[in-house]
Amino acid sequence: MKAKGQIFVVSAPSGSGKTTLLRKLLEEDERLSFSVSHTTRKPRGREQDGKEYFFVSEAEFEAMIDRDQFLEHARVFGNYYGTSRKYVEECIAAGTDLLLDIDTDGAAQVRSRLPEAVTIFIMPPSFQALRQRLEKRHLDSAETIRQRLEWASRKEIHQFRHYDYVVVNDRISRSHEQLRSIVLAERCRRDRSLQQIETILKSFGGDTIDQ
Ligand code: 5GP
Repeated sequence: MKAKGQIFVVSAPSGSGKTTLLRKLLEEDERLSFSVSHTTRKPRGREQDGKEYFFVSEAEFEAMIDRDQFLEHARVFGNYYGTSRKYVEECIAAGTDLLLDIDTDGAAQVRSRLPEAVTIFIMPPSFQALRQRLEKRHLDSAETIRQRLEWASRKEIHQFRHYDYVVVNDRISRSHEQLRSIVLAERCRRDRSLQQIETILKSFGGDTIDQ
């Protein structure tokens, strides 16, 4: 029997550098796949349907909620976002590790439905650094930046306490190293290696694992 895939959930306030970090992690890690979410927000820049997101209408999204097709879903800054239950189940069964880039409400839902998921919170080094990053990327209006900072201070930043790991993104190379180390260490957990260990033990003379 094939080992099941692992779920890695990553959340961060908008502007924490999460997207850059996750892109780098996915480039380096062949065993890790990105979970493409459904959203009702409009594509930005060069975003392609099926790559960054599946872009759907509100009516389509709500029909999916009614059919219980989401492992989790939430409204983030006025738009719906959700993770397909079927996709996650298929990846786990096929032994593929999955990376979910989702907000803190979505992460709470995943935690309660799949307690074995590994959760990682990415923190900006300070409020000032977060503001600077949001301003520098020239993606949002001043009002949107104000709303995102307010949401980060009032709600998001405090959610770190519910996550297994926290990575402070002060230097991208160091944060990347930390993120990669978390993924590698989680794969070496004893309870996740039992099938491989069983095979090794057999080669030593037929012992099975005494659990
Ligand atoms: P953006 O619109 O900037 O791509 O994403 C906005 C927020 O939505 C980010 O915090 C991102 O993590 C979150 N998000 C993206 N996909 C999902 C999803 O499937 N579920 C939930 N709950 N949040 C998501």
